[in-house]
Amino acid sequence: MNDINSVREQLLSQLESLEDKKQILRANELRNLYGAIKDQPESERAAYGQAVNALKQELEEKVAEADAGIDDQVPIDVTAPMDANAEIPSLLPTEDGSIHPISREIQIISDLFYRMGFEVSPSRELDDEYHMFTSLNFPEGHPARDDYDTFMTEEGLVAPAHTSTMQNRIIKARLDRVKSGDPIAVLAIDRVFRNEDLDARHEHTFHQAEGVYVGEGITVGDLVGTLKTFLTGYFGKEVDAKITPFYFPFTEPSFEFSLSCPFCEEDEYCKVCSSERWIELLGCGMIHPNVLKEAGVDPERYTGFAWGCGVERLIMMKYDIEDIRHFNSGKLTFLRQFK
Ligand SMILES: [Zn+2]
Repeated sequence: MNDINSVREQLLSQLESLEDKKQILRANELRNLYGAIKDQPESERAAYGQAVNALKQELEEKVAEADAGIDDQVPIDVTAPMDANAEIPSLLPTEDGSIHPISREIQIISDLFYRMGFEVSPSRELDDEYHMFTSLNFPEGHPARDDYDTFMTEEGLVAPAHTSTMQNRIIKARLDRVKSGDPIAVLAIDRVFRNEDLDARHEHTFHQAEGVYVGEGITVGDLVGTLKTFLTGYFGKEVDAKITPFYFPFTEPSFEFSLSCPFCEEDEYCKVCSSERWIELLGCGMIHPNVLKEAGVDPERYTGFAWGCGVERLIMMKYDIEDIRHFNSGKLTFLRQFK
């Protein structure tokens, strides 16, 4: 960590003297810090990586501040005809923008899982059939492949229909960890795509939070406990959970996970759950032995669970949003409510 602090001092003082402030983001010293993450001892790697990210963010903010200072100067169009009667344009700042609600909630969701010991990983917006299907126990020609009507490129690449495409990579990259007795705990949260007819509940582009947990002696109880802890944190209210059997090729057994409606009030009609008191929220299950095997894990010795949850679905419940299409509509009246 000492080296991060000294690089920070050095870059901040360099920044002062730079004409083009953005150059600081390309500094070799910063790149070297990123390169050094993998050399840290396992126990310190996450904290080290975060400290490097925090430094990069600090520098980006300083660069943005410097840029904003330049933008404050009103541009003058020297070619414009002169109008002696023109009003002098207002120099008052226009309204500030704000972080998009999806980005903000992804941060909140990621933080909650981070505190439970999960690493957070992005996904890919273009992937191959192996990661979309084969690695997830959908053999060639398996009818369940048709349940995922997504987009493909002419080269045969897939726009992922779920962030489960990361499962095989997540596990493979951490085999040493699971063998040394530490569980794999990763949340893959990113954009996914489906060939859907658009309506208030369906979008062709949305976000999914995929959880993967693998270790020795992991059970369905761990799965339910993890999701319950997360949802209680996310909705700020103690929730109950129940699971009902379901089918996915990549989990066995598979479940549909329901939570007790956090919005129900005694004796009042609840429009979130139509007063059913339970909300079917997501699909989950114990990772199929074939999926573990394909990623190099011995399913006789290790078990794990996985789930996939629509991010917009969670946000819509939390803020009582009736139409998923609002998120990408660019409607300011919608977005301003999240400032
Ligand atoms: Zn309710």
